[in-house]
Amino acid sequence: MEFSKIQELLAGEPKYRLTQVNQAVFGELTEDWNTVTGLPKALREKLQSECPLDIPSEVSVSLDKDTVKALLKLSDGKYIETVLMRHEDGRNTVCVSSMVGCPMKCAFCATGEMGLMRKLTADEIITQVLFFARLLKKENERVGSVVFMGMGEPFLNYDNVMKAVRVMNSPEGFGIGARHISISTCGIFDGIKKLSEEDLALNLAISLHASNDEVREKLMPVAHGYAIKELLVVIDEYIAKTKRKVMFEYLMINGVNDADEMAEELAGLLKKKLCVVNLIQYNDTGSFTASSHNRINRFKEILEKNGVSATMRYRFGRDIKGACGQLATGRN
Ligand code: SF4
Repeated sequence: MEFSKIQELLAGEPKYRLTQVNQAVFGELTEDWNTVTGLPKALREKLQSECPLDIPSEVSVSLDKDTVKALLKLSDGKYIETVLMRHEDGRNTVCVSSMVGCPMKCAFCATGEMGLMRKLTADEIITQVLFFARLLKKENERVGSVVFMGMGEPFLNYDNVMKAVRVMNSPEGFGIGARHISISTCGIFDGIKKLSEEDLALNLAISLHASNDEVREKLMPVAHGYAIKELLVVIDEYIAKTKRKVMFEYLMINGVNDADEMAEELAGLLKKKLCVVNLIQYNDTGSFTASSHNRINRFKEILEKNGVSATMRYRFGRDIKGACGQLATGRN
């Protein structure tokens, strides 16, 4: 979908046409310009031929039906994946990609193995939310939140990510509250600083995954240039400026980063910070094995005993390779 092209096509039209078009695309979630009868027939035909509303896709649904993964084909023939997570309490979260592939090469991540093919445009990011908004509409449901935790490092595509976020947040777009939009980064300092200056109260999540630089460098090559100590200084500045809680993502990998001493070490780093640690059970991508439930519970206990709040993330969509770190299209 090329929303920017729609705007170009409407250049010579009265201003209210754009309102009508936004209402049709994001409000009514129409999939066919011919149904937008408030627009003149000639304009509908032009839109139909130059900006068709269809989104080429293939969908997989997990056995428990909690997770829907969509493989979307982009206009240059490349593919990306996006995931809908349906929570028990009825909330629907879309996990969006910001790149085709990813240059960060995290050792536990299938996307990282692809390398970076290209960054997504804002339109391509918005299309992922639109795809699931349409799907949910058929069940009278809506997208409640969006997380940038799919393929790619969002802060290496900052401008397009923020452009897409503004459409997600705008009442003329999807009207999703800023507090329901989360950006997850492996710790790009510039991006964190820029986010703290935005006028939107978005959530920030940091992929930490280790309690010291040695382990983090093994798991995340990016850590070579971004030591944990320096990262935490940037996070402190972010918290001081925004007064918003930061989430630290911690993938629990058996025998790598899940020892009691590492929980103590992590607690030492995060004590007294306005933050929460989200412990995620590792999803198999072939390189490591997952920590046991007991181990994760023990790790969580140690953090909490030391005054650091922690949650455990339920694993979505493992059987369709739609879980954290498993997105890779195999088509590009
Ligand atoms: S975990 Fe995120 S940042 Fe790391 S390689 Fe995968 S997609 Fe990229």
